[in-house]
Amino acid sequence: MFRMGSTEETPLTARIIKKAFESGFDKAVLASAHPFFQSGSLLLLAKGYTPYGPFPKESGVLPGYYPLSHSLHAVTRDLADWIREQGCPAVPNPAIPLKLAAYQAGLGVYGKNSLLYVPGYGSFMHLRAIHLGIPFAGELPVMPSPETTSPCGECRRCQEACPTGAIQDSGQVCGPLCLREVLAGKLPEDRPLALKLLSRADRMLVGCEICQRVCPMNQEIQAYPLQVPDELASLLHLPSMMAESDAAWRHRIQQLAALLGTNIARPRRLKANAALACSTLKEPGDISTRLREYLESPESQDLPPAFRKYLSGFTG
Ligand code: SF4
Ligand code: SF4
Repeated sequence: MFRMGSTEETPLTARIIKKAFESGFDKAVLASAHPFFQSGSLLLLAKGYTPYGPFPKESGVLPGYYPLSHSLHAVTRDLADWIREQGCPAVPNPAIPLKLAAYQAGLGVYGKNSLLYVPGYGSFMHLRAIHLGIPFAGELPVMPSPETTSPCGECRRCQEACPTGAIQDSGQVCGPLCLREVLAGKLPEDRPLALKLLSRADRMLVGCEICQRVCPMNQEIQAYPLQVPDELASLLHLPSMMAESDAAWRHRIQQLAALLGTNIARPRRLKANAALACSTLKEPGDISTRLREYLESPESQDLPPAFRKYLSGFTG
């Protein structure tokens, strides 16, 4: 989408937008950097993706969002390099609330699951931004409060499907209850609650997209899901993740880092979540032994007590 900010828009901004599309983004919008920065403008970028189909039954699961996020980090950096070569200061991937910035720029609207829905892509898209050192010359749409633009109506499907009850009637997601946080290692102090949350993670290793999967606004996009790449499914094969030597595990992490980035391919976090996912396998075989060995290993020693207690229930 190329939205003209004003008739005075300079050719540079038009070239930046064109280059953003050539870089693979599906949407590119210029907006004021206010209130996130004192000056300058923001280039807001979005790229849609097709969600994965089913993962093999002994594989851990993650949303297609993460490989895309990793690849777009570099694409955004390269785009910022190009913009600087045109004489315009550009800082890629600034630490700002991207959904809010995109909403204020009119890129999409919030669903009750707190995700941004972009026309044509639903919530299956990834946002990026570049802070530009030139003033924004256009006019932004005046966006009302997100509740008033919500497309959800009386729908409650995401609330009903959320395995932890994280989505509130108000349309807010309670962060500590969301599995995205739990799988990132943020467990509540309340032990019964922590045990309950861990019991809902199923085979998810990173993130959760249940509230997106059930959303009526996302059904068309899921009609032809992407087959999970063999390489990824193999790298996430749970019994193998729990059974290999230190050297093999390091090699697996390196391969996962190439696909997902080092921020996601964190060895201890992934091993802990693989152990959690293994506890759900229907025919665990020697998994109980593997889990016991894992709980006795140095790499599990910093597990939160509730996490350890939960896993110990599967060690036979
Ligand atoms: S990501 Fe999962 S846990 Fe979080 S709100 Fe959505 S369905 Fe619930
Ligand atoms: S599932 Fe329903 S309530 Fe939830 S975001 Fe989608 S349309 Fe809105």
